[in-house]
Amino acid sequence: MIVKMDRMATKGQKDKVVARIKALGLDAAEIVGTERSVLGVRGDVSKIHEDQLRLPGVQDVYRISKNYKLASKEYHQHVNGKSSYTSFTVGNLSIGNGKLVIMAGPCTVESEEQIMASARAIKEAGGDILRGGAFKPRTSPYAFEGLGEEGLALLAKARDKYGLPVVTEIMSEAQLPLFEKYDIDIIQVGSRNGRNFHLLNELGKQKRPVFLKREMGTLLEEWLLCAERIMSHGNTKVILCERGITTFEKYTRNTLDLNSVAAIKYELSHLPIFSDPSHGTGRRNLIMPMSLASVAAGADGLMIEMHPRPEEALTDAFQQVTPETLAVIIRKARAMHTAVRDET
Ligand code: PEP
Ligand code: MN
Repeated sequence: MIVKMDRMATKGQKDKVVARIKALGLDAAEIVGTERSVLGVRGDVSKIHEDQLRLPGVQDVYRISKNYKLASKEYHQHVNGKSSYTSFTVGNLSIGNGKLVIMAGPCTVESEEQIMASARAIKEAGGDILRGGAFKPRTSPYAFEGLGEEGLALLAKARDKYGLPVVTEIMSEAQLPLFEKYDIDIIQVGSRNGRNFHLLNELGKQKRPVFLKREMGTLLEEWLLCAERIMSHGNTKVILCERGITTFEKYTRNTLDLNSVAAIKYELSHLPIFSDPSHGTGRRNLIMPMSLASVAAGADGLMIEMHPRPEEALTDAFQQVTPETLAVIIRKARAMHTAVRDET
């Protein structure tokens, strides 16, 4: 259930609504918009009636049919009228506002030379965001797990030199002070942590946008509930990223589920939806066609692994493209986006 406050509602009126919600044994998550406040009601609302919350200062109360509320298209349409998509900015870059956003870079930050060369290539190719892993989740405990803090410092250095916002993966809430220290623009939650509820709760208390990859075995509803978890703690800047699910097929690393991209974009959520054909296929030759297919399916952005010398990459060497290929993918993806984007 959501409570939409009137534009002119006072703080006192809002506090009274919150007190009423609490008195009913429920909890309120406040979403402060540019024009008005909205209260998301957490808990079992099945036993209460909307009228119990129609206090002075309340414009309307809505019951959302989905288990996830704040992340649903329904919610966004009620609160923001016609617009069924949400957008926000990271520095000068707008995400979710109808422009295709390209996030690219190596699987892992390996050295200063490598990340600087990557950032330069992305800039030259017309990309928007630099990605690179500093803390890598690896199946084998003996595999290279990234440079850690040094990787964050190198990302920050590349960001400062090339003016590209950076995104990198967090493993645990204990790393949050380091993300603050290096002012990491977007926090990535990788597939393996996609259902780490405690971490998601903590990220909900942050101001930085969260790039939430789909856990490889989650249903769309479960994934959207993970986004809801972050939002219900106050952080509404969530970007969803389809990265492939586990199926019986072994030829590709995962099965990039483009149904999810179209379903999220056109039916389920107002949140920006990205696609990651690199982890979705695990095969270099398939990155370009699946990037274009992702854009055709409705993706607001792409996450592509690119390495200045893919054959030397310390992780995910088979799926990283060269700077030259990245430039072609970006050019074609932008043309595809122009061809298919919403006219409305
Ligand atoms: C990554 O993006 O670097 C990554 C490890 O991907 P995923 O979490 O989707 O496997
Ligand atoms: Mn990778």
